[in-house]
Amino acid sequence: MSGLPIKPGEYKVLVTGGAGFLGSHLCDRLIERGEDVLCVDNFFTGSKRNVAHLMDHKRFELMRHDVTFPLYVEVDRIFNLACPASPIHYQRDPVQTTKTSVHGAINMLGLAKRLKARILQASTSEVYGDPEVHPQPEGYWGRVNTVGPRACYDEGKRCAETLFFDYWRQHQLEIKVMRIFNTYGPRMHPNDGRVVSNFIVQAIKGEPITIYGDGSQTRSFCYVDDLIDGMLRLMDSPADFTGPVNIGNPGEFTMLELAEQVLRLTGSTSKLEFMPLPQDDPKQRQPDITLAKSALDWQPKVRLEDGLKETIAYFQTLLREA
Ligand code: NAD
Ligand code: UDP
Repeated sequence: MSGLPIKPGEYKVLVTGGAGFLGSHLCDRLIERGEDVLCVDNFFTGSKRNVAHLMDHKRFELMRHDVTFPLYVEVDRIFNLACPASPIHYQRDPVQTTKTSVHGAINMLGLAKRLKARILQASTSEVYGDPEVHPQPEGYWGRVNTVGPRACYDEGKRCAETLFFDYWRQHQLEIKVMRIFNTYGPRMHPNDGRVVSNFIVQAIKGEPITIYGDGSQTRSFCYVDDLIDGMLRLMDSPADFTGPVNIGNPGEFTMLELAEQVLRLTGSTSKLEFMPLPQDDPKQRQPDITLAKSALDWQPKVRLEDGLKETIAYFQTLLREA
């Protein structure tokens, strides 16, 4: 809260989904800046390996817990990241995905209300669905198919945003809603089916690069360090700034362009293999980050090529060890 008698670096911070890709990087940065971190995860897609290097740290604690059940802990700030993010994972048990977003938000907002803690929601560009407005500003209400296979994730995240804003209006909770665009980097799950990890793993193994559709659909890829920087700036922003705010890299690439970059940077001779486009796959996506620039003084710094090099090095080591 704005009047809390504690300074940055002295918070006890809860990170839900903290053993996942983004959550583990967030835990690293919070520990670096001196916070006490309670990492909560049910290990559905995350793993202890992602936070193994923090386990002996005196300010780090790991707890196995499913956020669809109430949680009773004492913290000053909450980052709510728990939710599978890759389409194959969130479609594996779609009912659980919606529960994680909706019941998880209710439980974490209830906790924040009791503790008067500031709470940040990891929302997503998926709230814009398959957009007719390009690039997507926060004021765009989106175009989501409510009955399609992506809806368990998209609508769950949209409902979570609604809950955050109702807790803000009804209970004056300090909320921050962050709309995350496609993010990549070390500690992505090698089999989670997301495009960057898929292409890199396929290129390293010399297997065909699987292009869905004709590869002309676009995405904008943000490197994880930039993303976490934006997340911390949002959490630290003045109490009256709620968002929603887009955090992502406006650099926009077709999947064919991404495949070419990955092949060049890995020196792989993998061939391209064209496969059917999944249902409701958005044709284009690019964040309008005007608000993040003005309100948070944030913009991404890492070029796609540099971020891909770091990610390729990570997967080369991981696959050598496997
Ligand atoms: P991830 O799958 O690596 O991490 C999610 C973590 O949440 C995992 O550790 C998983 O085990 C945990 N989890 C899932 N269900 C849970 C539950 N019921 N209780 C407790 N823990 C649970 O995904 P990520 O890429 O790190 O994404 C983190 C957050 O950011 C998610 O909320 C996701 O929707 C959001 N996001 C990510 C991206 C991206 O490109 N990475 C884009 C948009 C939004
Ligand atoms: N994609 C692809 N080949 C793959 C995996 C994904 O062409 O092996 C495409 C997918 O159809 C989509 C884009 O890459 O158009 C991004 O997919 P991802 O699952 O990474 O994220 P999202 O669709 O949620 O943005």
